[in-house]
Amino acid sequence: MKPTAVPDGASGMRALYRRLGALGLGQTYVRSVALPTGWDDSEAANPSTYACVLTLLARNLGLDIRSLQDAQAPLRWREAGETRFLKHGNVDECEFDAVKGIALRAAGAAAQGVTAPTRTIPSAQALRTQILSAGHQAVTLEALLDACWDLGIVVLCLRDLPPKAKKPTATVTVAGGRPVVVLCRKPCAAAWMLFWLAHEIGHVANGHLGGASLLIDADLDGQPSGDMEQEAHKYAVTLLAGEPDPGYLAPSRLYRGRLAAWARDVGRRDGVDPGFVVLHSTRASGGRYDVANNALKALEDSPDPVATVTAQLDRRLDWSLLTRDAREFLRRMAVRAS
Ligand SMILES: [Zn+2]
Repeated sequence: MKPTAVPDGASGMRALYRRLGALGLGQTYVRSVALPTGWDDSEAANPSTYACVLTLLARNLGLDIRSLQDAQAPLRWREAGETRFLKHGNVDECEFDAVKGIALRAAGAAAQGVTAPTRTIPSAQALRTQILSAGHQAVTLEALLDACWDLGIVVLCLRDLPPKAKKPTATVTVAGGRPVVVLCRKPCAAAWMLFWLAHEIGHVANGHLGGASLLIDADLDGQPSGDMEQEAHKYAVTLLAGEPDPGYLAPSRLYRGRLAAWARDVGRRDGVDPGFVVLHSTRASGGRYDVANNALKALEDSPDPVATVTAQLDRRLDWSLLTRDAREFLRRMAVRAS
């Protein structure tokens, strides 16, 4: 390995930014999420400071440290271990490299702050009964988040991914001996986030991660295909609706307010989140998701599901247990408003 190049302060950082930029990690983004707060590029003139910065970038962005240290070598992503991809169609798995490293880093950082024991994940029906018995009218996003944390499952949402990076719907990993669900997209309504989370819990409950270090759900918008996707889907629907095929089908020509009202009635009757009723009916009928999303907006008073996930993470973590670097990174990546 070549020795670490000693840069000339700011000019050395400019060269580093160019290399990072070639991987889709722009300077503004790198400074915003991966470098220390208040970082001044001229500090890189100090060789030991520069070496620390390279280590920090490798850790926070999932980069191979040797490629960072060798200014002549192309930058590489760190080997992340076996990854299990669940995807539809011809998705290029390499497109998820940026998110992969960041998701693993965020999961590892968050797991540092949890000491509660992990518990066996109940069946979908048992978990639903448990949530409803606690006084909830339905399995809502807030109620499911509470249940996850009580089971020792960490749930976080990445708020600040590289702008051009391809984003999967969600990933699951194990960090610190506990499952961590990392949600990667910002939906327009909580019902989407609720369904994605329930689906990921389905993967955890069914042991789909196996010996892999990461499971990536590239896209959950389509029909589930393959055994694992169908099992996770079945778990999610049973958890949210009480049976694997509730048969929700909205009458034709219902839009926004009237579709929302129909879903509210069905949800009240069956103890089901009305947003899920809309999504399930739309999926079952091959209906239009723009129509569904309009109904979801009519159903939800303050549709900021990312804030809901974030608030629970902020409340449940013991931030004092995180290393300083991990705390700073996780706050930027999963807590602050973007
Ligand atoms: Zn899946």
